[in-house]
Amino acid sequence: MTSLLDIQDLTITYRGARGHVPAVRGVSFSLQAGETIGIAGESGSGKSTLGMSLLRLLPKETKVEGELLFNGEDILTMKFGRLRAVRWSGASMIFQGAMHALNPVHRIGQQIAEPIEVHNPSMGAKAVSSRVTELLDQVGLPAWRAENYPHELSGGQRQRVMIAMALACDPELIIADEATTALDVMVQAQVLQLLRDLVAERQMGLIMISHDLSVLADMCDRVAVMYAGQIVEVGQGHAMFTAPRHPYGAALGSAFPVIGDPEARRNPRGLAGDPPVPTDLPSGCPFHPRCPVARDDCSTTVPELLPVKAPDEDLRRSACLVAQDGQSIRPSSPVPPTSTQEPVT
Ligand code: ADP
Ligand code: MG
Repeated sequence: MTSLLDIQDLTITYRGARGHVPAVRGVSFSLQAGETIGIAGESGSGKSTLGMSLLRLLPKETKVEGELLFNGEDILTMKFGRLRAVRWSGASMIFQGAMHALNPVHRIGQQIAEPIEVHNPSMGAKAVSSRVTELLDQVGLPAWRAENYPHELSGGQRQRVMIAMALACDPELIIADEATTALDVMVQAQVLQLLRDLVAERQMGLIMISHDLSVLADMCDRVAVMYAGQIVEVGQGHAMFTAPRHPYGAALGSAFPVIGDPEARRNPRGLAGDPPVPTDLPSGCPFHPRCPVARDDCSTTVPELLPVKAPDEDLRRSACLVAQDGQSIRPSSPVPPTSTQEPVT
């Protein structure tokens, strides 16, 4: 069966005045129809670059290598006309900060209608208008909101409008990049629930990008943790959170210990130091300078992403020499080097 999305060894390098920036390095995963995957990682780990590459939204001088198949079709070599069709009716993207993405001088209804009209030129005005009403209803907004301008809506309502626009052409895949990060916690929970319901109802694929592992663990079938442009751990959403098998995944989990907790969001714990800059990566494992369980060989050996023992054994892979040796990695950080304790759940 053809996967909805098949990514093999994707490597993305920005090329600009300040030289080459390797932002994504050898990422591989596939996604089936109706499946959800979360991409977690600190700022700068390459999440947005990965997300944008799926719709070829990166600056044109960016070098993209590897394979990117959407329903078996090669995104990287696709003709522009076909790509445009895929961008709305195949896969669509929801960004952070809906206020900037919406046009301040156009009414909401008009903005939701636009992609519908572009992709269904023969559709009459009445049919378009009833489709807009239907979409507003699906995202929990009354029909009269179509007459509003973006500034007349709250942040959460604007994010709902963005979701309605993303749904307008019935995509098979939605890519949500920090789509709820700017919202306060209650509204974030509502919008996440809405996304979850819509994805389940329509059997859509979802790639959800966030720095907050707890949100992803709650939302997604699978979670991949990125560090310095690579996937360093991947597994089943909840098990990744409760039984991490990479010290970076463990640190991310303990930075946001409670799903959606406002205090943890303001004050992430357990992540000492800064991620490396892509142009100056450490030798060996890129996480070793910050790693509480690093051994001598971690600074010389680049760990591969390999299967490790975990509650979700069939899915879990970790790019950590310590985890690959079967030593346990506690979800709280820092982890003492001699720790043999079982994961705290
Ligand atoms: P994330 O979304 O995880 O915060 P990004 O994908 O935005 O990470 O960025 C990954 C790396 O690529 C960062 O080091 C960032 O500075 C760099 N980067 C992002 N956009 C550009 C660009 N247009 N030109 C050069 N470097 C970039
Ligand atoms: Mg980003």
